[in-house]
Amino acid sequence: MQNQGFSLGTCKGIRVRLDYSWFVMFVLVVFMLANYFFFFFFEDIGVAESWLLSITAAILFFLSILMHEFAHALAAKKRNVEISEIVLFIFGGLAKMKKEPERARDEFVIAGAGPLCSLALGILFLGVASVLEPYIRVGVYGVLWYIGYLNILLMLFNMVPGFPLDGGRMMRAALWHYTGNLRRSTRIVSTLGQIFAFLLMFTGVMLIFGGAIIVGVVWIFVGMFLLQSAKSGYYLVALREGLSGIPVRKIMTTNPSTVHPDVSLRNLVNDYFFKNRFSCFPVIRHGEFIGLVEINQVKSIDRERWEFTRVSDIMTPIENLRIVNPDTDAYDVLMQMIDVGSGRLPVLDNGELIGIISRKDIIQFVEFRETLGA
Ligand SMILES: [Zn+2]
Repeated sequence: MQNQGFSLGTCKGIRVRLDYSWFVMFVLVVFMLANYFFFFFFEDIGVAESWLLSITAAILFFLSILMHEFAHALAAKKRNVEISEIVLFIFGGLAKMKKEPERARDEFVIAGAGPLCSLALGILFLGVASVLEPYIRVGVYGVLWYIGYLNILLMLFNMVPGFPLDGGRMMRAALWHYTGNLRRSTRIVSTLGQIFAFLLMFTGVMLIFGGAIIVGVVWIFVGMFLLQSAKSGYYLVALREGLSGIPVRKIMTTNPSTVHPDVSLRNLVNDYFFKNRFSCFPVIRHGEFIGLVEINQVKSIDRERWEFTRVSDIMTPIENLRIVNPDTDAYDVLMQMIDVGSGRLPVLDNGELIGIISRKDIIQFVEFRETLGA
């Protein structure tokens, strides 16, 4: 899910991205609607009309999900919690927060906005369907009714009190508010989320045995996705707590070995990567930090060309790097790394390189702390 797909544009300062995996779900939904729903409920609808209505219904359904995510995003914006983007992907939508909310009240409101929006949309569509029923074609009525019903289902599903679902987030916020203990609150809702994920997977298996293979597989995958998210949700909170108040300065690798930009890739591999066994080196020219070279970048160059290619040809130049200040909170830096999809970042003090911070450093620091109970 890391930045594949394409941007649908920006609305109210929030970028909307369509992940490639979304198309799989879209096609599946259209297929199911056309082959089962419309034929099942409205027997006298022709094939062409049935497909047209199915595509319309699928688009309305995904617009409903988009509205649900926008409700989260706008609530977050109002409470000064930054949203990096909204992603639509195979399992629905996600309003990605740059950082988790720091107050229970904010989390409660942001999580609650989505289901509230779905409930409102559900009532709206069902209301319009019943008012217009005598005047519209039976197929159009079917679409309106179906979208209303789906929005209500979406609301109910999201209100399940297990992390990472909205209901789980709301419950966590409530527990956090009353106990003051974010970590324990998260552990409770993360466990509930994992139980719910197992129930979904179990139901999926039962559906497959019952002959509903496609739906069963979808349930299993949704369960697996929720299980992973429930686990990592707790992990992130543990990290956040273990890192609170710790500046990068305390964790970074100081005085890292550096390399000159004119060194050939052959020398870089033999004299640097193999000798020091670091997977990344800062590039320094005349005492000045100018970029970062990583082992993956060497891999993309043909072996025969290593002799003639220099570090400066393949490194990531300083202007394309996210630079970290030594006094930044380590948790914030970890979130930045996840945001830009990078494993390590240079730490600069007044333009001078003083260290390198990697995801591994940060996670190991927390693990050591946990082990020592400090
Ligand atoms: Zn939601």
